[in-house]
Amino acid sequence: MEELLRRSEKLTTVGQLAAGVAHEIRNPLTTLRGFLQLQQETGKHNSRHIDIMLSELDRINLIVGEFLILAKPQATRFETKDVRYVFGDVISLLDSQAHLCDIMFKIDFTTDTCIIACEENQLKQVFINVLKNAIEAMPEGGEITIRIARADARNVTVTIIDQGIGIPEEMIPKLGDPFFTGKETGTGLGLMVSQRIIQSHHGALDIASAVGIGTTVTITLPLGEQPNVPGEGEGSHNRVQ
Ligand code: ADP
Ligand code: MG
Repeated sequence: MEELLRRSEKLTTVGQLAAGVAHEIRNPLTTLRGFLQLQQETGKHNSRHIDIMLSELDRINLIVGEFLILAKPQATRFETKDVRYVFGDVISLLDSQAHLCDIMFKIDFTTDTCIIACEENQLKQVFINVLKNAIEAMPEGGEITIRIARADARNVTVTIIDQGIGIPEEMIPKLGDPFFTGKETGTGLGLMVSQRIIQSHHGALDIASAVGIGTTVTITLPLGEQPNVPGEGEGSHNRVQ
């Protein structure tokens, strides 16, 4: 319970986030300025420096892009959708990328309807973030299982199971912290953004993992056509385990 509280406090500290963004953007900006100045002083064209500058610019673009998702108007438009179709669209989107990485999607969707009230694009963003992490965790390829099932009369669970590298135990509590990344080119924003979106849908996002075996992400969402009605006993919380 304390952990839940701590997490929700952390997630609502907008000022802290803004400071983090400023910091993360300032680093590549400093690099950019340094190389430009060097270029100006020497008058020489250095293609390696230009490559670095371009990748620093890409990094800024990536960070700003992830934050734009959060900066969207708060009064989001909730619509009634079947979560199986929402996820289906995301699979079509990522299918070719997965194929290139020797990854197969194994789809295990219930035949029951799974109607939820959601902001479709935001929810798609969550599924994309989680699937991308799964793909990135499987450099050797393998299978990603996506299961959608009714948890009970009031909730649906979306489970994404990968056979990737897994997450060391000591990293688990840090997941969802802004800018926490285990990747060289990661932004460490995907899970934070995903948690926020799931929170706004009155759901929960759980992560369980074992190094060398894989990671399971479980997203629980309240069934029903009414937005802002928490599922049974779930309330508006968000957790990472
Ligand atoms: P990013 O992907 O940009 O690093 P995320 O917030 O999406 O940021 O993820 C944070 C970190 O959590 C990742 O860098 C990775 O170390 C770890 N992680 C998340 N999902 C998985 C997964 N499915 N398998 C292994 N590690 C993962
Ligand atoms: Mg990610």
